[in-house]
Amino acid sequence: MTHIINFTCSPEEAQDPNFLEQRIRQELDVKASRQFVFRWRKRSIDARQKQIKINASFEVGIDSELAPRFALQNFEMLPSNAAVVHIIGAGPAGLFAALEAITRGIKPVIYERGKDIRTRRRDLAKLSKNQELNPESNYCFGEGGAGTYSDGKLYTRSKKRGDVQKVLEWMVQFGAKEDILIDAHPHIGTNKLPQLIEAIRLQILAAGGEIHFENKLTDISVKNNVISSIQINGLTEIPVQNLVLATGHSARDIFELLQRHQIAIKAKPFALGVRVEHTQAYIDGLQYHGRLNDAYLPPASYSLVTQVQDRGVYSFCMCPGGIIAPCATADGEVVTNGWSPSKRNNIYANSGIVVGIEPTDFPNAQDPFVCLHFQKEIEHKCWVAAGQTQQVPAQGLKDFVEGVKTAEFPRTSYQPGIVSVNLKEVLPEFIYSRLRQAFLDFNQKMPGFITNDAVVHAPESRTSSPVLIPRDPSSFKHIQISNLYPIAEGAGYAGGIVSAAIDGLNCIEKIVISSSNF
Ligand SMILES: Cc1cc2nc3c(=O)[nH]c(=O)nc-3n(C[C@H](O)[C@H](O)[C@H](O)COP(=O)(O)OP(=O)(O)OC[C@H]3O[C@@H](n4cnc5c(N)ncnc54)[C@H](O)[C@@H]3O)c2cc1C
Repeated sequence: MTHIINFTCSPEEAQDPNFLEQRIRQELDVKASRQFVFRWRKRSIDARQKQIKINASFEVGIDSELAPRFALQNFEMLPSNAAVVHIIGAGPAGLFAALEAITRGIKPVIYERGKDIRTRRRDLAKLSKNQELNPESNYCFGEGGAGTYSDGKLYTRSKKRGDVQKVLEWMVQFGAKEDILIDAHPHIGTNKLPQLIEAIRLQILAAGGEIHFENKLTDISVKNNVISSIQINGLTEIPVQNLVLATGHSARDIFELLQRHQIAIKAKPFALGVRVEHTQAYIDGLQYHGRLNDAYLPPASYSLVTQVQDRGVYSFCMCPGGIIAPCATADGEVVTNGWSPSKRNNIYANSGIVVGIEPTDFPNAQDPFVCLHFQKEIEHKCWVAAGQTQQVPAQGLKDFVEGVKTAEFPRTSYQPGIVSVNLKEVLPEFIYSRLRQAFLDFNQKMPGFITNDAVVHAPESRTSSPVLIPRDPSSFKHIQISNLYPIAEGAGYAGGIVSAAIDGLNCIEKIVISSSNF
């Protein structure tokens, strides 16, 4: 029989197997003569008080072994006559949709505009080192999607949307550490994600699925509100039965394509702001009550939120021990985001600090592109302000709050480089003033947060899609096109790796339910 035991202990104790064994034996009153095994079930840190605690939960087997944590999924070889589903985009949504299709005997055929992981990596190096941007292969486009070179944070609030556990278990099956099933805020890390995604690709191919890299969806043929075929790379016409559109928040040409075919899309709220970077040691000091270089504690993170003039301003995608990455997808723009390696052992801590944007912030709120145009405009203005390269405009955080240009910067992790700009003159007043007030509020919550040792980089603008591709909530079919399944982040139904993957799983289930062919 498996027993569950919960207690709190110090970070040191949590890493001491002898302490844990004794404590568990004591809690369950297990005599030394009895055989017993235990393993972590859940783990979280409570650093609210000076006395930092670990909330620990264990599974314990007394005179019996523990069952495996989960059953491995069998991805069987597809029959040669399997029905086919066409999927556009090999991000988490497209890949998990493909895996789910295989479990249901459906052959996934994926078209991905970007390159495979290894080749893509070279384009990222050129971008960071030489400022050479490849519009088809960058931090947003390519195998694994936008999440490939990320922190790989797997925490999601969207538990109601579906099977978070299934997504995490499949990730472990494809090479992630079991820790992601235990930690309250699991993460994988940029250095580990590529192997995991490669393993998923090999599984899809081994089962008889297809993945075509450097294959961009460029057009569709629509008859009687049904997509009859898709066009790839402006050349090949491929007939389709069901089309899953998993193209992510940066595929602006996809929104234009839909608009061209008069397929319904609408403007969607999103968030925009800046990415701020402190040193990790500084954040550790603030969050761990001055406890520095503590081998028993992970690099500290923060999650901050406030309301300014009826609008949420919050930290977004905080990356402890991370790097700020150049995430533009076209010339004439700059975009920042962040990633961390698995050990989160870089010396910097960065986070987006963003303001909620509504279509109604603009006079033409009914225009489906109103938020996208605003996003583009800010990215372009920042590109111009920093000298029309992949360098970004930057300011010391204290100077940002005081509205003065920064004379001297500490080093930052943003490899293409920064240019001193007074961001008050670049960001619209309704964004700047809210960010400014939010920083003052955050400084109350985390005294010391505002310092010129922290650098504000602009803009953080790809937080979610600024366009919604509306679908029926129960069937996931586009409200107008009966065989189009717009999913995950690009369509406005997910935000983050796990929720995108869940939407991919759910979408295949919907296709199975509604398709008489399957
Ligand atoms: C640097 C960075 C760090 C991030 N960190 C995290 C994190 O730690 N945790 C987290 O949960 N989320 C993170 N995110 C966000 C996360 O990556 C996204 O939420 C997630 O990848 C969305 O999944 P998706 O499958 O919907 O879309 P995407 O991952 O964007 O994938 C869409 C795919 O479609 C392809 N595509 C687009 N247009 C076409 C076309 N016309 N034809 C063919 N293919 C096309 C793209 O090339 C892309 O590969 C991060 C993002 C970035 C950029």
